Amino acid sequence: MSDVTNPKIQKSDIEWREQLSPEQYRILRQAGTERAFTGPFWNAKEKGLYRCAGCGEELFISDTKFDSGCGWPSYFEPVKPGAVTEHRDISHGMVRTEVRCANCGGHLGHVFPDGPPPTGLRYCINGHAMTFEPLK
Ligand SMILES: [Zn+2]
Repeated sequence: MSDVTNPKIQKSDIEWREQLSPEQYRILRQAGTERAFTGPFWNAKEKGLYRCAGCGEELFISDTKFDSGCGWPSYFEPVKPGAVTEHRDISHGMVRTEVRCANCGGHLGHVFPDGPPPTGLRYCINGHAMTFEPLK
C-alpha cells in the first residue's frame, strides 16, 4: 500500500500480525476483501457502533447503515468527518475510492457514488475490518 496517509497509530507488520486474526490482517493490512455474504454484519440490523478492528476507533453507526444487497455492510456516511480517509485505488483494472481508518491506516473497503440520500454514497466495508458495540 502507498503511504499517502499519516495515521496516528503506527505499528510494525509483526505487531499487526500478532494482534489481528488472519482474516483481519489480510483485510486491514493487505487491503484484502472478504467474500460477499460471508463476513460479519452485512445483514446486521442491531443498533450500535461499528469500530475499527485494528485500533478500536469509531467508524460507523447503525443509523447510517442500509441494506445495499451487495453482501457487505454498507453505510451512507462515517460516524464523523475525518473518521476515514479516502484514496484512489486503480487495482484489479478498476478505478475505485479506497476507504481506510484515519487512526491506524487499516484498509476498510471502498466508497461508491450509488448510495441513498442524504449523501448518495455507499461505504462498502469489510465486516472483518470492524467490531460491533451494541447500544445499551
Ligand atoms: Zn483503525
